[in-house]
Amino acid sequence: MTRIAIMGASGRMGRMLVQAVLEDEHADLGGAVVRSGSSLVGVDIGELCGLGRAGVTAVGSLDRIIDDFDVLIDFTTPATTLDNLAFCAEHGKGMVIGTTGLDAEQSNQLEAYAKRLPLVFAANMSTGVNLSLNLLATAAKALGDAGFDIEVIEAHHRHKVDAPSGTALMMGRAVADALGRDLDQCGVFSRVGQCGPRRSDEIGFATVRGGDIVGEHTVMFVAEGERIEITHKASSRMTFARGAARAAGWVAGRAPGHYDMQDVLGLKHG
Ligand code: NAD
Repeated sequence: MTRIAIMGASGRMGRMLVQAVLEDEHADLGGAVVRSGSSLVGVDIGELCGLGRAGVTAVGSLDRIIDDFDVLIDFTTPATTLDNLAFCAEHGKGMVIGTTGLDAEQSNQLEAYAKRLPLVFAANMSTGVNLSLNLLATAAKALGDAGFDIEVIEAHHRHKVDAPSGTALMMGRAVADALGRDLDQCGVFSRVGQCGPRRSDEIGFATVRGGDIVGEHTVMFVAEGERIEITHKASSRMTFARGAARAAGWVAGRAPGHYDMQDVLGLKHG
């Protein structure tokens, strides 16, 4: 049994994570953290999530549950995630991180922590998206240098604060890597005004934000006369939460390192 704590347990993903861990027969919910000073501190987390009494009360800091968990699942903000990395490295805990929008400096800090604790970090925890990365690499190798232009389109709910989505970037990177291109050089993230014709090696990104869209990603391979699209549509956040609970069970007790969902799902080549 892996004892799991959830950071940001009252958030959109936090509530789903509580449910996924309570439903997982290989996991125990060891703790749930909400913002310190929140009126939710002391509330039963199961009742907070509309799931009935869980026997675990929400706390305002990780210190309060230090002996109650082995792995922390964190879907919050980059700054909070970095604080939690410091805590978990110091106290011998594993982490599953779903937070997106880390800048280059924050990503470097995460890599440094990965030398001290085992962590799974993935911008998308769904099985379908992670399988799609393999399909995209296969398609890119066959089409990318054969006259097909590659464009990534993503759509999310109106509350999402970062763009393009971490998943869109992951998909773009899978395609770029398969083609030996550097996404920092070939990624095009905005087109406005007289931006000129498309370069053949560009990987373009477009973003849609609105309503309650959970997460949709399409990669188009467009040639003269035909087009292939690989699309993933998430219709419930539970798909991410179940993936995160599975990752927590997988990462517990592993050697320090930065793992991803391809590792967890056994999808890595070679
Ligand atoms: P949200 O705003 O609903 O939830 C974030 C929660 O974190 C809030 O409840 C907030 O109070 C809490 N929080 C932040 N700092 C805290 C702190 N210091 N202490 C305690 N609680 C704190 O957002 P969301 O939609 O749940 O998304 C959260 C993150 O997860 C985003 O970065 C989003 O892009 C990402 N996400 C990742 C995946 C994936 O599969 N990897 C899927 C969905 C969302």
